[in-house]
Amino acid sequence: MKLRIIGAGLAGSEAAWQAAERGVSVELFEMRPTSSTKAHKSKYCAELVCSNSFRGAGLHNAVGLLKEELKVWGSLIMQAALANEVPAGGALAVDRDGFSQYVHQKISEHPLIELHTAEISSLPDYTPDAPLIIASGPLTSLALTKEIEKLTSQDNLAFYDAISPIFLHDSIDHSKIFRQSRYDKGEGDDYLNIPLTEEAYYSFVENILAAEKYTGNLAVEHEKIENLRPFEGCMPIEDMAERGKDTMLFGPLKPVGLTDPKTGRRPYGVVQLRQDDTEGSLWSMVGLQTRMKRHEQDRVFRELPGLEKVEFVRYGSVHRNTFIDSPKCLEATLCFREAPGLFFAGQITGTEGYVESTAGGMLAGINAARMLREQSLLQFPQETAIGALMAYISDTERKDFQPMNISYGLMPSYLDSPRRDGKRKLSKKERRIIAAEHALDISRTLYKDEDSSLDLGNSSKALKQSNQYRQLARTSTSYFRNFRPI
Ligand SMILES: Cc1cc2nc3c(=O)[nH]c(=O)nc-3n(C[C@H](O)[C@H](O)[C@H](O)COP(=O)(O)OP(=O)(O)OC[C@H]3O[C@@H](n4cnc5c(N)ncnc54)[C@H](O)[C@@H]3O)c2cc1C
Repeated sequence: MKLRIIGAGLAGSEAAWQAAERGVSVELFEMRPTSSTKAHKSKYCAELVCSNSFRGAGLHNAVGLLKEELKVWGSLIMQAALANEVPAGGALAVDRDGFSQYVHQKISEHPLIELHTAEISSLPDYTPDAPLIIASGPLTSLALTKEIEKLTSQDNLAFYDAISPIFLHDSIDHSKIFRQSRYDKGEGDDYLNIPLTEEAYYSFVENILAAEKYTGNLAVEHEKIENLRPFEGCMPIEDMAERGKDTMLFGPLKPVGLTDPKTGRRPYGVVQLRQDDTEGSLWSMVGLQTRMKRHEQDRVFRELPGLEKVEFVRYGSVHRNTFIDSPKCLEATLCFREAPGLFFAGQITGTEGYVESTAGGMLAGINAARMLREQSLLQFPQETAIGALMAYISDTERKDFQPMNISYGLMPSYLDSPRRDGKRKLSKKERRIIAAEHALDISRTLYKDEDSSLDLGNSSKALKQSNQYRQLARTSTSYFRNFRPI
């Protein structure tokens, strides 16, 4: 009774953990560090390739709900994120090295998980008695990509994804910048802000437009970057600038909720930096993914006030991002339609984002374990964030499939929720929280049913008992008390 998993990223590590916690022996194959991708740098499981943020933490954000659902199910990735949290206003951000080392250690120490360093180039056999999960991510190695293309009878779909730079804290001139979180969220001063005058903003845009960019594909040699589409949620600044000179003012450089203490006014534009490690020695640019050549990044970013002598710890870059046409081949259980015993999980299924990839890993791990126990596969109801995401990627009616972040727009329970409470009109935020509480109730019930039918490991229980979890649970319940359930 053994499960094999290809890729120990966010999805593969979570899948391995969930299955092993259900008593299944797991062989987890990870090619790093022997072979690597163009974006990964370490030998550790669940490396975060770009931002160190798991995005918004409140229940009014769909990704906040998704994180809460993952916590209900004892997610290892959420456990690691909470243990390595750094200040980030209303978001959950982590010390990236501490985070992946935590996951790596938990995986390596689990008595039922064998972690192998090996690149899988041809697909191993799989059956319902010996299932396989493919969680090799957006940067799947070329040989395996070809195998998956044969299996799915598809030319793989792809778009490109970009990374933003990270700087050394000590190399920033702090006299020209100010600390504040947007609308004073979190501790109120979690971000470093570079205020831009109107002139400085447009000069930054012109510099970006004029800079030399990478055009050849960096991750898979046979592709040209021009042939691929950018992902809207992670668009390089060059593409934003080309859409219009003001575009970034409504995106990553928006100044709303920020006041420059030197002028007492809102700046024309703001470049934000977010803490990237526990010590606060590394800071990453927020939303400034770039495909400018390195020498151009040196020049363009050093023209920003406070960054004149900045030292880059990591440059921005751009990569191919591979995904399969999931609606054509996957069930909402993540099982491959034509091949029982085979599952896909993570970004390769077209669920975009760290938290979304983790959710897929969790579901695939649970279902592979259920298949081995000859239990029916778990399909989350669409009222839950996980269920809504899985319904999106497995919807057979969907044409022109494109990767997607979780959103309340995918959840019928939000779209159809009451708009009034008696005479009072409910705000969008209130309706989201009602839908979120409904989703969490379902998740808790589903988990309890599974919990009572299986001998689950202690770690998921430990997470539920942790103070942080109790506090989060209390917050969401107190929101809910004010509103009628759907
Ligand atoms: C350049 C880039 C930047 C991104 N930035 C963000 C971001 O800032 N925020 C966000 O939320 N999401 C981001 N994403 C999207 C996505 O959420 C992440 O890529 C996420 O890591 C996906 O998780 P995963 O487990 O599916 O894949 P991964 O985390 O990439 O894990 C896949 C693993 O499989 C291994 N592997 C690949 N091929 C093989 C093989 N043949 N044999 C064995 N092992 C193999 C890889 O080494 C890797 O460790 C980004 C994606 C890319 C490509």
